Amino acid sequence: MPLATSDAVALDRLRAVCQPLLDPAGFIPGQQADERYCTDWSRARGEPLAVLRPSNTDEVSRLLTVLHALRQPVVLQGGMTGLVGACVPQTGEVVLSLERLRGIEEIDPVSGTATVQAGVCLQTLQQAVEAQGLFFPVDIGSRGSCQIGGLIATNAGGNRVLRYGMTRQSVLGLEVVLADGTVVSRMGKALKDNAGYDLKQVFIGSEGTLGVITRAILALQPLPTSRQSALVAVQGFDAVTDLLAQCRRQLGPRLSSFEVMWRDFFDLSTGLLKKGRPGLNLAGTHVVLVEAMGLDAGQDDALFAEALGAFQADHPGCEVILAQSLADAQDLWAIREAAGEAANAVAPWAGFDVSLPIADMASWVAQVHSQLREMGLTQTQTYGHLGDGNLHLVVGLGSEATRKGAVHELVHRTVGDLGGSISGEHGIGLAKKAHLHYCRSAAEINMMKLMKTALDPHGILNRGRIFDLL
Ligand SMILES: Cc1cc2nc3c(=O)[nH]c(=O)nc-3n(C[C@H](O)[C@H](O)[C@H](O)COP(=O)(O)OP(=O)(O)OC[C@H]3O[C@@H](n4cnc5c(N)ncnc54)[C@H](O)[C@@H]3O)c2cc1C
Repeated sequence: MPLATSDAVALDRLRAVCQPLLDPAGFIPGQQADERYCTDWSRARGEPLAVLRPSNTDEVSRLLTVLHALRQPVVLQGGMTGLVGACVPQTGEVVLSLERLRGIEEIDPVSGTATVQAGVCLQTLQQAVEAQGLFFPVDIGSRGSCQIGGLIATNAGGNRVLRYGMTRQSVLGLEVVLADGTVVSRMGKALKDNAGYDLKQVFIGSEGTLGVITRAILALQPLPTSRQSALVAVQGFDAVTDLLAQCRRQLGPRLSSFEVMWRDFFDLSTGLLKKGRPGLNLAGTHVVLVEAMGLDAGQDDALFAEALGAFQADHPGCEVILAQSLADAQDLWAIREAAGEAANAVAPWAGFDVSLPIADMASWVAQVHSQLREMGLTQTQTYGHLGDGNLHLVVGLGSEATRKGAVHELVHRTVGDLGGSISGEHGIGLAKKAHLHYCRSAAEINMMKLMKTALDPHGILNRGRIFDLL
């Protein structure tokens, strides 16, 4: 389709100012842009005016200087695994992709840090540091595609928050390019640095609305040498919280994951999607994937078995499947990690990642499932990083796709009523901004807007994500 006259003029103007700043692979007119620049995992879709692919901080800075002068809206893209539509181009936006900033600049075993460019893929970093006996603990299902810049911009959580914290806890230093092209760099390796405001925290979790993350210094951990995994099927949510308490008591800091699956998710993953060992047949209302990591295989294996044995003695009806090998552990994790596939199996869907006090989870899930059933929606998938108070809910909409808004309203309002958060991990983006008020006060949202206006006065970066300025 030919471009509208206004788009053609805008594209010519962009080409004139941006192309001279980049090598030939750095500028792609929107009409020639690959589909991967048009859609993320939320399945929202849009077409960019053009795609800009800088390969270093200086190019990002020079591009933003001219785009700022033109008041040109820009959407930032990492690995495009986001789930809230934040990186999907809106009308008239130009894509700034970080995919060519792919360098791991340094792995420093003395300070236990990695210095990386923003476009490094998470899995690439994990493998590179493990080869040196070190460990980057942030781990999420999209590890093969998501980038360090995206992880930081969304303050990603994932499977090991219980032990190592969110991405924020692993960021020591950050380099950011502001909307007007100014480079703000504090690439420190020290854990302690109280010289004034800790500016990097402003950009972590800001979903690309305040600046472009170009480089980071990440804290590494010692590589665990032992890993224990088990599936535990229990009857009733109280048994789930008992298990969490038992594991915390006996495993202490070794406990690295505590992933809970309600039957609706577990049955779909092991049944239709055939994940896990064939013939896996567990009773119970919930199935928990417990993982521990340590530095002393002999002692850790025994402690893990002891903790689960003690739990079983108190809960005779529960079933425990202990992984006996790495392959076994991978089979167990495959059940939990089928989340993306499971959602696509019930498309169109509405997806949620809420945070709630653990004490309120069971009643909240029962209440929402019941209200969804009343709406004729029975295809639910419920699972989450329970140790972190974070629950995922996917609702298959079937022929009721037009009721997506009503489902969002139900879920987010009820979470707000309990003092929870409408986003435990994935962020607000475009998909959830109408409901930000359910978990943030007017004063808080106003402060966010003040920060946005101060750092990006023309509102060119990820415009309209998280909140609207007007
Ligand atoms: C199968 C699957 C499993 C997932 N599991 C989890 C999970 O367990 N926990 C979790 O938290 N998330 C999870 N996610 C969501 C997603 O993977 C994370 O949000 C991830 O951090 C996004 O990284 P990305 O590089 O793909 O970023 P993108 O999707 O490209 O972008 C996400 C946001 O970050 C901004 N952004 C990207 N790069 C930069 C940059 N360099 N500077 C500034 N802003 C930038 C974008 O504009 C956008 O707002 C999952 C997604 C999938 C598909």
